[in-house]
Amino acid sequence: MKEIYKKVEKFERINKEEGLRLLADGDFLKLGELANRIRFKKHPKREVTFILDTNINYTNVCSIKCSFCAFYRDKGADDAYTLSIDELVLKVKEAELKGVETALIQGGLNDDIPYDYYIDMVRELSKSNVHVHAFSPPEIDLMGKISGKSIKEVFEDLKNAGLNTMPGGGAEILSERVRKKISPKKIDSDRWIDIMREAHKQNIKTTATMMFGHIENEEDIVEHLSRIRKLQDETKGFSAFIAWDFKKENNKLGKMVSKNTTGIDYLRLLAFSRIFLDNFDNIQASWASQGQDVGEVALHFGANDMGSMLVEENVMRQAGFRASSSVNAIAQLIKKAGFQPVLRTTKYEKIKYL
Ligand code: SF4
Repeated sequence: MKEIYKKVEKFERINKEEGLRLLADGDFLKLGELANRIRFKKHPKREVTFILDTNINYTNVCSIKCSFCAFYRDKGADDAYTLSIDELVLKVKEAELKGVETALIQGGLNDDIPYDYYIDMVRELSKSNVHVHAFSPPEIDLMGKISGKSIKEVFEDLKNAGLNTMPGGGAEILSERVRKKISPKKIDSDRWIDIMREAHKQNIKTTATMMFGHIENEEDIVEHLSRIRKLQDETKGFSAFIAWDFKKENNKLGKMVSKNTTGIDYLRLLAFSRIFLDNFDNIQASWASQGQDVGEVALHFGANDMGSMLVEENVMRQAGFRASSSVNAIAQLIKKAGFQPVLRTTKYEKIKYL
C-alpha cells in the first residue's frame, strides 16, 4: 500500500489493480489527504465553484423501468405527463427571471415522443439566455431509434438547434454485471461510451456520473472509473465527474439493498475518484444528496466544485429526499469550509465571486 501512496504523492497514474487495492484497503484519512493534494495541484486557489440551475424533466413516461428509479410512470398512468414545448419555454423563462444560468433537461424514455420534439425543444429553449444542458446517452440512443438516424446525425441536428453540452446521466455503474441486474433494458456500457465519444468528437462537452451504494462492488467501481478515464484520455470531452449515492426510498432496488451508504462511504469514494481520475479537472461534491456537513468535508476530500443549486428538482424529490437551500446558504457553507465561493457556468467559466 505504501508504494501506491508514494506513486499518488508523485502524481503518477495508478492502474486498475492498484486502484482496487487503494479503494478496498486505503486508509480513509490518507485517501482524503492524497485527494486534497491533487485538488490543489489542479486548482491552486482556495476557490470552490457552483452553479445556479434548474432541473426540468420533460416527461416521466419511461419504458425502461430501472429498478432504482422512483420517477418513471407507465404510459396512461394518472400522474404520467409529457410537457409541451410551450410549457418548457415557460418554465425556462421563469427560471431565467430567477437568475438561473443553466437548465438541465432530461426525461424518461418515452417512445411516443417524435424526433422533432427534441430538436424543436432545443431550438426554442436556446433562444433564452439560459444555457441548455440537455439529455443523456439513453435519450440520444432513443432519438436515433425513432428517427432512423445515426448517433452522429442526431448530435449534428441537436447541435445545429443549439445544444453544446450534455449531462452524463444513465451511466449508473458501467459494469455489465451490475447493469443487467438494475437496469437490464437500458443501453449497455459500450453504447454509453460510444455515444459520449461521438458527443465529444462534435465538441459537445459532457459530464460523467456514477450512482453507487447498491449492489456494486469495488471492482465494478474501478471498472466504471477506468472506462471514463480511458475515454477522457482519448477525447478530453468530460468537464467533470459527479458521483451520488443510491437512494433506497420508493423503488424496487431499495428493497433488495440492506446496506446504508454513510457519509464516510461517500467521502472515501469521492477521494478515490479524485485520485484515480487523474485526467479530470473538476470533481463535484454531491452536497444535495449528502447534506451540508458532508458537503463541507467533501471540499477537503478532493472536490473543487459544489455542483448545483437547483431551482426545481423532481427525481430526488420523488425518492423521498428533500434538499433546499439558497445561493447564500451554499456560499456560507463554502466559506465555512475555508474557501472562496464562485458562481460558474456549465463550462466552468467563473462568473461572480461571492
Ligand atoms: S432512470 Fe431514467 S431510464 Fe431508468 S426508469 Fe427512470 S426515467 Fe427511465
